[in-house]
Amino acid sequence: MVKLINIDRVRFLLMACLLMPVLTRAQQVHWPKNKKAAIVLTYDDALRSQLNNAVPQLLKSGLKATFFLTSDIDSTSIPKWRKLAKKGYELGNHTLYHPCLAIEDNPAKSENYTAYGMIREIEVMDRWLFAVDGKTKRTFAYPCAETLAGGRDYVDSLRRYRVAKYARIGGDSSTIITDFKDLDTLRIPSYGLDGGENGDKLIAYVKNVVQKGGLGIIMIHGVGGDYIRISADAHQQLLNYLKDHKKEIWVTTFQQALDEVYSQVKRTKVNTALTSTGR
Ligand SMILES: [Zn+2]
Repeated sequence: MVKLINIDRVRFLLMACLLMPVLTRAQQVHWPKNKKAAIVLTYDDALRSQLNNAVPQLLKSGLKATFFLTSDIDSTSIPKWRKLAKKGYELGNHTLYHPCLAIEDNPAKSENYTAYGMIREIEVMDRWLFAVDGKTKRTFAYPCAETLAGGRDYVDSLRRYRVAKYARIGGDSSTIITDFKDLDTLRIPSYGLDGGENGDKLIAYVKNVVQKGGLGIIMIHGVGGDYIRISADAHQQLLNYLKDHKKEIWVTTFQQALDEVYSQVKRTKVNTALTSTGR
């Protein structure tokens, strides 16, 4: 009898050892108020259609969001961005001039940059944003979701200079974050919209995020105007769904979502040698 119990115990310990790495890897974040998942709405490039169409819809629905701004803000729009920040919306850094590869339709060519030049530009934009909202902890989104300056990856330079707390890259509709332990906080993937998505498509993504219990970040540009646009109707449908399901979905800012994650999850230290592409 004693022998049997011992064998059972050995079996139990063996199973526990085998399962441990799996359990650790699948460490789930407990979202606030027992919600099932988190959604972050991010809007890039300081576009007029965001202020005119997306913002009134967001305010009406009471949902928070993050706006990644460039220096394309002026005496007309700055007071509006400032007002939004006061209401709890996040203003993130998207560089001054939006440098991207020359193949993009963009006046600032990232091929002509060095990593240092890019970091300096991000720092200056940080100061500009401080003048707008008075915040010192800033998040960042790579222009065109590219991480290159002069053809070389500058993520590790960004890390070294500690300019950004978290940084967003791109991804597609399958991008749902569930593994936070090994996630590089300066390469947080998102679902970058191509433009033209309807409400159903956006809601289908949210449903997948809820099903996986993870974090889904959506990268939005134009709303009912400008470029890479979705219609104001599609945007409203998405917000309606989020609002109707607020008991299970936490809609918050990019920084707040990740602050919550890393108050619970201990990160694996990033091996910079592995993250650098060396190009
Ligand atoms: Zn952009």
